[in-house]
Amino acid sequence: MNRILLVEDHERLARLTCSGLEAAGIAADVVHRGDDAWAALQQVPYGALVLDRGLPDGDGLALLQRLRARGVGVPCLVLTARDALRDRVEGLESGADDYLAKPFAMDEMVARVRALLRRPTVCRPLDPALGDLQLKPADGSVCCGVERISLAPAEMQILLLLMHGSGETVRRAALEAAAWGLGEAVTPNALDVALHRLRRKLLAIGSRQRVVNVRGLGYALREAGVAA
Ligand code: CA
Repeated sequence: MNRILLVEDHERLARLTCSGLEAAGIAADVVHRGDDAWAALQQVPYGALVLDRGLPDGDGLALLQRLRARGVGVPCLVLTARDALRDRVEGLESGADDYLAKPFAMDEMVARVRALLRRPTVCRPLDPALGDLQLKPADGSVCCGVERISLAPAEMQILLLLMHGSGETVRRAALEAAAWGLGEAVTPNALDVALHRLRRKLLAIGSRQRVVNVRGLGYALREAGVAA
């Protein structure tokens, strides 16, 4: 879809950008505030988002982070008056796909928006969450509130499978296959060792989720203090 959303509070700049894009065959809807952008993005499947950082109701990057956390994968070009390396890094870490410093040449804006529109809109999956736990597969860690701890790859795979089960019992063999792959020779107690480490890590970050042994069947995540 060749329609984009431009989020820019500077009205004259927004108007100029809009006409520049339209002259290049790209229709643009304009909003001036982050909350209006949020509402518009829930309703219209835009092909791309051009987002100013300095908005009257907050930093455009905070909005982008909220969008990404909700799984909104629309390709995004972040605009800023600042061109420091730190700003570019922050932008990319917040889920921006590209970055353009103000003032910009209209030709460059059009070229960058075209490049974004050629990208498929991937739906970025939400980080898996269960109870007070949030898994961050991209950086190999798990969080409970502001606490965060790194997981070994096998621990990550085990926790992913347990969280995916949402409290359902997962068999030992399934956990072993997830952690080390099928047919790989693992010592008989490798899973017990990994589960022991995982339990300690969940306690260390203050989670109420416990990996419990469901006698004869396998393992499950249960919240401490809640009857099985
Ligand atoms: Ca601004």
